[in-house]
Order: sequence, then C-alpha cells, then structure tokens
Amino acid sequence: MSPVKVTPLYEGTFSVGTDKVFRRIGREDKPYKKSLKLSINPFLIENGERLVLFDAGLGELFGDETSIKTILGNLEKLSISDYEITDVFISHLHFDHMGGLANRENGYWELTFPDAKIRVSEKGWKKLYSVLEYHGEEEQDFFHFLDSRGDIEFLSESDAPVEHFRVELIGGHTEFHQALFFENGKNRYLMAGDVIGTRGVINRTYAAKYDYNPEKSMRERKRLQRLSYEQGHAIMAYHETDHTIFLLKEYDEKKGYLIENLT
Ligand SMILES: [Zn+2]
Repeated sequence: MSPVKVTPLYEGTFSVGTDKVFRRIGREDKPYKKSLKLSINPFLIENGERLVLFDAGLGELFGDETSIKTILGNLEKLSISDYEITDVFISHLHFDHMGGLANRENGYWELTFPDAKIRVSEKGWKKLYSVLEYHGEEEQDFFHFLDSRGDIEFLSESDAPVEHFRVELIGGHTEFHQALFFENGKNRYLMAGDVIGTRGVINRTYAAKYDYNPEKSMRERKRLQRLSYEQGHAIMAYHETDHTIFLLKEYDEKKGYLIENLT
C-alpha cells in the first residue's frame, strides 16, 4: 500500500474587515481595526494514486496581494505539478475556499488544476447560481467559467464518490456546507470548513452572527468534536494560523478536550 501523507498548503495570513477583502498580514501580526485574523490552508492528501485537495484557497482574484503562485509553489516544493491533482473537494462555496480553482495568471481564465474533478455540493452549486446576480462581476465570471469548463462532479447530502473519501452535509455556516472526511485505516481526518475553522473554537460554545444558521453551526461544531474524539479523526483547521492539524485526546467534564498538535 502506498503511504498516506497529509500536508497543509499555507497560503498566508490575512486581516478581513467588513468589506470582506483579504488583506495580507504577517503570521505574527494583529489584524487591522474591526477585522478578523484568518489564515488560509488548503490541505493536500496523498493517498496512493490520488492527490486530493480539501478546499482550493483564495487564489488571486479575491484577495489583496494574493496570487495563484502561492499554492502552486507549495505543491512544487513537494514535487507535485498542477496536472497531478486528481480531485478537489470543496467544503462550501465561499470564494476564500474555492477561489484557487481558476485563475487569470496568463490574462485569461484557466483551470488551476486542469485534470482534477471538482467535487461540490449539488444543492450548494445551484443555490449559488440562483443568487449569482447579487455577486460582483469578477465572481460571476469566475463562476460561469468553472460552470462551463470545470470538470464538476456534484455531491449529494451524504456521498462517498472516491474510495476513502466521503462528505456529509452539515449546513450551519452556509446552507449546504459539507464536512469532508478522509478515512483510510488508521489515517482518519476531518475538515469541517468554517464550522471548525480554527483550533481556538475547540471547547468553546458560541453562536456566530456570520453563520447562515448559527444554532445549527454550534450543534454541528459540538457533534463533530465528539465524533473526532471517539473515532480518532485528526481535525484540519482551514483558517488556523499556528497548528492546522490536531487531535482531540482526553475529555474532561470541566476542561473539555485535550488537544494534541500534529503540525
Ligand atoms: Zn472560510
């Protein structure tokens, strides 16, 4: 059996204000006033013949000082070319999670991973299509390009399109947000997008105004922590700055889970 390897592809740390523009800051920096500090980490899973991404990063279009070269450079360091990526699973259709799927590096739209199947929630995709007119022109162009040229494979609410990979509709942060699972023997991973976006949300109970359904998001956040703890999934935190992959070890009624950092 080929070895399994999981690597976060750090795209940078950003300050995100109410205008939703991702402004690049240093890893150690504080965010600007009234802004959130968010890092971006698509995850690469090498599993035998398949090279799979969980979310695609910001790309060049939706951030300030961002470029598709960051992710491609990260892959290059691992001696992987853009053509070798076989699948990209997208947790939810926000542009900071899928912006890296297409780029205009050469002046016209191109698929960043030309041979990859793009795996998205069918309902999520149709929903985005139905509200596209409320998005900016760049976002509309991006969507239409992907919709016509991308090798899109739609996922149902509970789907396992590739051996060892499955998705579950959890909602919460967006209506059709999915949790992404990779389960191959002892290699067990969960990526819950913005429902568990950072390590800091572990053991915290809160409802976030920016969620589509804050209560649902809160319930799923709790349930997925329990599931990871019981079934030994390492959690991949897409917006985490310091420790992007971690395990939940012991559980204590008062203190909650003990976190073991894997990265
Ligand atoms: Zn996000």
